[in-house]
Amino acid sequence: MGTEHLSPHLVRVRLGGEGFARFEDRPETDKYVKLKFVTPAPESHPVTRTYTVRRVDAESRTLDIDFVVHGEEGLAGRWAASARVGDRITLVGPGGGYLPDPNAAWYLFAGDLSAVPAIAAALEALPTTPVASRSLRSRTRTRYSTS
Ligand SMILES: Cc1cc2nc3c(=O)[nH]c(=O)nc-3n(C[C@H](O)[C@H](O)[C@H](O)COP(=O)(O)OP(=O)(O)OC[C@H]3O[C@@H](n4cnc5c(N)ncnc54)[C@H](O)[C@@H]3O)c2cc1C
Repeated sequence: MGTEHLSPHLVRVRLGGEGFARFEDRPETDKYVKLKFVTPAPESHPVTRTYTVRRVDAESRTLDIDFVVHGEEGLAGRWAASARVGDRITLVGPGGGYLPDPNAAWYLFAGDLSAVPAIAAALEALPTTPVASRSLRSRTRTRYSTS
């Protein structure tokens, strides 16, 4: 449905269309899908890459996936960097295993850029308290916020 460059190394791809009807959302904040790609010819064999579903919007029937782009390396990152409206991709899932415990006294999330989508989703799910401190730090400038 469209892409947004959040930083030089992070591209948000918004997926939607008729396939959304078959997407069964889950409550976990680390929910992930398996994306299907095909390696370039002449090998042309199928490969799978795992990505966090950053956000599901039931109203607009879209889901966002944030891809780290490793320059000219890799399949998934390069696909995201060059994705255009109308491109199609097959995904399987979602799976998921983590939802922040609302009764926990404190939380610590850490990860590299590829973990930021799951961390941001977890931060959004935390109960709001007057003393909550939420920050995402990056060595590169990344426009990334929880809502
Ligand atoms: C549960 C789960 C959720 C994930 N969610 C996300 C997500 O939301 N967004 C996201 O971008 N990634 C996510 N990842 C990581 C992603 O699956 C891998 O980084 C994947 O290998 C990228 O595929 P690619 O085809 O772009 O690169 P590949 O073909 O797999 O790798 C090519 C080259 O790219 C570089 N590279 C690949 N991955 C990394 C990395 N993580 N750090 C540094 N260099 C790397 C290396 O140089 C590597 O040799 C997740 C992984 C898991 C297991």
